[in-house]
Amino acid sequence: MIVELLFAEGNHVCSVCVANGNCELQDLAVEVGMDHVSLAYQFPERSVDISHERFGLDFNRCVLCTRCIRVCDELEGAHTWDMAGRGHHSHLVSDLNQPWGEASSCTACGKCVNACPTGALFPRGTTVGELQRDHKRLSYTAMAHHRRHHESH
Ligand code: SF4
Ligand code: SF4
Repeated sequence: MIVELLFAEGNHVCSVCVANGNCELQDLAVEVGMDHVSLAYQFPERSVDISHERFGLDFNRCVLCTRCIRVCDELEGAHTWDMAGRGHHSHLVSDLNQPWGEASSCTACGKCVNACPTGALFPRGTTVGELQRDHKRLSYTAMAHHRRHHESH
C-alpha cells in the first residue's frame, strides 16, 4: 500500500524515466509484487530544474526520502539541500530556495545524484533508461568519513 501511495502521489512514468531499469522504487514495486496502482493518481503539476550545468532535478520523481539532503550535509559538508513545505506541499529546496544552478554551496560533487533512489536527480545528458548509480563509491566514502570521524574523537 505504501509503494502504491508513492506511485500515485508523484508522476512515475517509468517508461520515459532516465532511471528505468535502475531504480530502487521500481525494484521495490517488483519485490512486493505490485502490478497495478489501485489508488487514484494525483498527477501533480511539478517542474524540472535543469539550471545546474552538470545535473538535473525532476520533482515529479522525488519520493522525499531525504538521502540527498543527508549525503550532501553529512558526507560532502555542503548542505545545499533542505526540505520545504508540509505534507502534500513538501519539496526540496537548494540553498535559499533558488535554482540549483545558483546555489553557491554546491561543489558539483555528484554525491546526491548517486544516492537518489529514483530518477529525480540525474546527470544532464542522460537518456531514458541509461542512468547507472555508483552506490559502491558512496559506501566507500561513507566508510572513510566514519573512520575519520571516530579517529578524531
Ligand atoms: S552535487 Fe554534491 S554539493 Fe552539490 S548538491 Fe549534490 S551532494 Fe551537494
Ligand atoms: S534522494 Fe532523490 S528521491 Fe530522495 S529526496 Fe533527494 S531527490 Fe528526492
